[in-house]
Amino acid sequence: MYNYNIGEIINALSIEFVAIYLRKSRDDKSEEDVLANHRLELVELAQKYNLKYVIYEEIGTSDSIEFRPELKKLLREVKNGVYDAVLVIHPDRLGRGDWADVGEIRKAFKASNTVVITPQKVLDYNDENQELANDMDALMAKHEYRLIKGRLKAGKIRGAKRGRWTNGVPPFPYFYDRNTKSLVVDEAKLPIYRMMVEEYLNGTSLKDIAVKVNKMGIKTNRGKYWSEVKVERVIFSEIHLGRIIYGKTSGSGHKNKPAKPLEIKDRDEWIIVENCHTAIKTLEEHSRMLAIKNAKQKIPKRARNGVYALSGLIKCSKCGYSMRMNYKKTVTKGLKCYVVKCQKTDPFGNQCGHPGIDADILLEAIENELLLYLNEIKSFENPQPSNQYKLDDLLAEKRKELKNAEDGLNRIYK
Ligand SMILES: [Zn+2]
Repeated sequence: MYNYNIGEIINALSIEFVAIYLRKSRDDKSEEDVLANHRLELVELAQKYNLKYVIYEEIGTSDSIEFRPELKKLLREVKNGVYDAVLVIHPDRLGRGDWADVGEIRKAFKASNTVVITPQKVLDYNDENQELANDMDALMAKHEYRLIKGRLKAGKIRGAKRGRWTNGVPPFPYFYDRNTKSLVVDEAKLPIYRMMVEEYLNGTSLKDIAVKVNKMGIKTNRGKYWSEVKVERVIFSEIHLGRIIYGKTSGSGHKNKPAKPLEIKDRDEWIIVENCHTAIKTLEEHSRMLAIKNAKQKIPKRARNGVYALSGLIKCSKCGYSMRMNYKKTVTKGLKCYVVKCQKTDPFGNQCGHPGIDADILLEAIENELLLYLNEIKSFENPQPSNQYKLDDLLAEKRKELKNAEDGLNRIYK
């Protein structure tokens, strides 16, 4: 129980985007899950006041900045004014000990008007007393709140994404709210999403889920029918955990501007902003789904890509989908290769069923076509001389016409 009003201070300072900094102190070594408890307490604090947050968690226990890579990273962002505040369990988690270190930390917070929030108090390094009063009246008197607010806002980088949605069409069942620049759950679509997650957890295949939703007449947010891939994308998306992730890739995937190749960065380099919008699946459900997916992937695939000469090259003339190849044992001819009847199903689960063919017949037809094509290419290699003569004649004729015209002009000007 804290009897000061942290909510009003957070409001008055317009704090909305914060960092949570976690570090075990050397004194904590006896308790194993002390960091987990700290994390829980600070996350609850952020959620209570509706703050978007990024977690920085130090692995070591060193007091020195030099051996605290997460703090180094955090201080860089604090200096750039990315965060409105940093949440810590106690100010000593940021720094104590070396005076130079403490000085560096204070300087970063002061320069960018970033405050420190603990479950007990709000600290402002720009204030000589360093402690914002617990009640609002005193806060107003001491700081002239408007001034602080202006100062704080001016120090922030406006370009920082700060947990805002900037990725275009939001995934089902969210929609984009212009005013808050964030995602809102479409309550009408939510039960459908929950059904997809629960069906998957109960062992239903992605394909069957897609068919089921299509039969209900529900489309994706882009107005398309559901497919295995589209269902997989939304049920495994981390956006549905309330997160927005920035900086997953570096470089550009742009075809026309190959400045830097597109690269997926390591997960510990991503910026994961939590609590950006309402989560509609739990972390526990998310991990259980991942476990199911991994288990499914362990089943060996019988047909690997590239096993057959024509794998991936044969398209169904009825629906355009790739047709599969397979070997069959026959009594008369031994092992024979076939193109399998088209397996593609429409969004409602109906199979295309376009018949397959004996691969030998297909290969023979392809060979014949290739031979014809080869003859055509050969004829290009030896251009027929008659064409060349025709062109020379035409050129001579045009030159003659030009000469006549020039002669005519000369006569006029003479
Ligand atoms: Zn087909």
